[in-house]
Amino acid sequence: MAKVDLLQLRPEGLYCEIGDFYIDPWRKVHRAVVTHAHSDHARWGMGRYLCAEEGRDLLAARVGTASLIQGVAFGEVVHHRGVQVTLLPAGHIRGSAQVKVEYQGEIWIVTGDYKLQNDATCTPFELGRCHCLITETTFGLPIYRWRAPEAIGHEINAWWRANQSEGRTSVLLGYALGKTQRLLSLLDPSIGPIYEHGSSAKLTEIYRATGCALPPAKNPTQEPKGTDFAGSMVLAPPSAVGSSWLRRFGDVRTAQASGWMQIRGIRRRGAVDRGFVLSDHVDWPSLLSVIRESGAERVLTTHGYAAIVSRYLVEMGLDSTPLETPFTGEANAEEEEVEPAPV
Ligand SMILES: [Zn+2]
Ligand SMILES: [Zn+2]
Repeated sequence: MAKVDLLQLRPEGLYCEIGDFYIDPWRKVHRAVVTHAHSDHARWGMGRYLCAEEGRDLLAARVGTASLIQGVAFGEVVHHRGVQVTLLPAGHIRGSAQVKVEYQGEIWIVTGDYKLQNDATCTPFELGRCHCLITETTFGLPIYRWRAPEAIGHEINAWWRANQSEGRTSVLLGYALGKTQRLLSLLDPSIGPIYEHGSSAKLTEIYRATGCALPPAKNPTQEPKGTDFAGSMVLAPPSAVGSSWLRRFGDVRTAQASGWMQIRGIRRRGAVDRGFVLSDHVDWPSLLSVIRESGAERVLTTHGYAAIVSRYLVEMGLDSTPLETPFTGEANAEEEEVEPAPV
């Protein structure tokens, strides 16, 4: 008997016809399973949402309609017309999930965005076995290999100390949902005060309220007039560069934390003083190990280098095709680790 395709691409998004639901749809549909709260995956206007309980409040902050969102525990099976849906942790940002879809013994997994590296702010990635894997390939080239995040954390704190000894304020740029909180978790609060931009503060609050312990971060706009910020650390989105908001900090050193710093660090020197290679996406060696260990004979790729990775997998003897999705390009660079426009 020919195997059925459990998921197919429709104009609205990735669709499971048997179960009648979409995964991370980009147009309005009646039932959406959402992997995580980044804007290219989570959109407003769906009839109902299903997501991981760990990320429910973040999704509600994004789409506004908490009453329409059902949160489920990782590993809990939900049934839709005989199709079993299970969310597995993706380790990308808080509450990020992979979607495992199972019907009559056939198993497909949609990874959403994911990484295997340590991250104190979310449940670690869990590998699932499947027949077909739909994986993101944002950093799907051999040049992308991440160093241990603990080592990057040391470098960031050393940079902060060095700036402090020169009487400067450190401004560390990263997108507001996920990266800011992960950076905060890596900072050593004994060095000095930490501030954060208003765009991430509400999200950081949700992280704390849902059980993620983070060092305290203050809102600089609530400090008394004339406050001297010298020696402090400021977490802000990339758009803060050149803004009047930044002027209050006086003599600053700026840095950006992103996977793109592996190749963009030097080219972007004009915009920031320093680049830290810290990504919330899977790197090349981990991508290949996940594909191998999933046992999938068919691999569909999305994000970034989807076509290149797919061709590579075909050469390795797998059945693979890239999927055309809007999971990159349209995303807001502040919320997602999309490749920044060339400077
Ligand atoms: Zn994401
Ligand atoms: Zn994404």
